[in-house]
Amino acid sequence: MSTLSQVQVSSRRESVVRALTSPDLASIVDLVVWVEVDADTPSTSPVAMAASHIGRVRLHLDGRHEVYEGRDPIASEDPMAFLPYDRECARPGPLRSGENAYPYAAWRILSLFADATRSPDVAVIHTPRHFFPEQGGHVGEHGSLDVIQSRAPLLLSGRGVAAHGFVNAHARLVDVCPTLAVLAGVPDVNLHDGGGQPLDGHVLTAYIGHEQVVKPKVIGILWDGAHCGDLLHLAESGELPGVARLIDNGVALRGGAVAHFPSVTLTNHTSILTGLGPGRHGILGNVFYDRGTGQQVVANDSATWHRSAEWLRPEVRTVFEMVNSQGQHRDGLRGDSPQGDFPRTACINEAVDRGADYSTMAIIRGSGIPSGAAGLGDRLPDAANSIHLHDPAHLSDSYYSWGTQVDDLGLEQIRQLWGSLDSAPTLTWWAGVVSDAGHHAGGPRSDIARDSLRDCDSRLMSFLEHLDGLGITDQVTFLLTADHGFEGSDPSVTGSWRQALERLDIPFRDEGPGFIYLLADRDT
Ligand SMILES: [Zn+2]
Repeated sequence: MSTLSQVQVSSRRESVVRALTSPDLASIVDLVVWVEVDADTPSTSPVAMAASHIGRVRLHLDGRHEVYEGRDPIASEDPMAFLPYDRECARPGPLRSGENAYPYAAWRILSLFADATRSPDVAVIHTPRHFFPEQGGHVGEHGSLDVIQSRAPLLLSGRGVAAHGFVNAHARLVDVCPTLAVLAGVPDVNLHDGGGQPLDGHVLTAYIGHEQVVKPKVIGILWDGAHCGDLLHLAESGELPGVARLIDNGVALRGGAVAHFPSVTLTNHTSILTGLGPGRHGILGNVFYDRGTGQQVVANDSATWHRSAEWLRPEVRTVFEMVNSQGQHRDGLRGDSPQGDFPRTACINEAVDRGADYSTMAIIRGSGIPSGAAGLGDRLPDAANSIHLHDPAHLSDSYYSWGTQVDDLGLEQIRQLWGSLDSAPTLTWWAGVVSDAGHHAGGPRSDIARDSLRDCDSRLMSFLEHLDGLGITDQVTFLLTADHGFEGSDPSVTGSWRQALERLDIPFRDEGPGFIYLLADRDT
């Protein structure tokens, strides 16, 4: 297989960028981003670039924007944009280039393009309203660099957390890993990747106490795709009593936590649980291409979740590995080892599970079902019997139905793991999926999206009541987050950029769609 020279890549990329920023694609292409080595400075470090039909900008890590054509397409990087929540509701899905905000644009773009063989040559960002069901799009979508699709909720609560209630602040999803690790007893000096390099995320010290907690018990909860603004709004309206209870005993960030780009599931689950951006952990997207192997990687699929560790880059350490590195590692699941030996780390319904003593995905790997979680079928509880389901009509959506089954099984797992304070893991990670199904099906604020949050909250309440019954709730530290936000598409905003690229007569792959890889040969 031949390869393109740097000069060929640059000239072909320029053709691709010109084609994609044509005004007739403006309703579906929000931005095109890539990186270039800065010719004006002696260093060879790359610079993030962004373009739309209104202009082009060079984005520097120190926050400088160098507009070199037209107007700045990244007019704002404000992570607190469209707050308070009324402002987002009043103007959902900004239409025009220049109206949206893209937090940490340079930092996130540079991370996406930092992988040696998996980064695309150009990434295309859909407009918030782009509706593309023929290419896998949904009514509710995420994946953009923009603030709303990148805004996940972030709550801390319980033991060792200062009860500030709502605060006008934000964090980043890469901060979750080091924060969970420190809460679970990992000293600051051990917060690094496998090569000893610092993590991309920082410990959220503003919200947690300074004194070391004796025998910490930490539970991280992820509700996939839970919309930050609507989650907090429903909690304040009394509709999510479990979330409201966590906030009463802790803190909720109005600006949530900023996801990495693309704001898709497996990229951010991995950032959350490793403290690294995609350029370091290697999970560039839910689907990406690896030039090193010549293969497409479909990482975020119920049939491949249990294989996620195969795609992690060698220097990655998961939060489970960090916590287990403290003191002697105890292998095996509860009951496999001598009496009194319980898992120190547990990972429920989560793909990024490497190192966890207890893991749903490890059970799936051990079961030998080749199709993984997708093949669990009749081993899952019946969705129609779920006591947490607010509206049985949602079960006609197959993803919602499957999510209900998986989440009911998740609750069962965490209740078993938490039979007593002594036997409970030091760190429990509990992921739920039905919230993603609800938001994809109807978009944020739809009945099905809100019911999915109510279903999640019902499971949370059930678990909190279980802890109350044991009399141990106040011994536990909680963190609740998601992997990305959501925006609703507009059924009238359709189309594809594919024809515009094909007209260039340049060999390429478009994974996602949105990751453009330039190829030397047509049939690779
Ligand atoms: Zn997700």
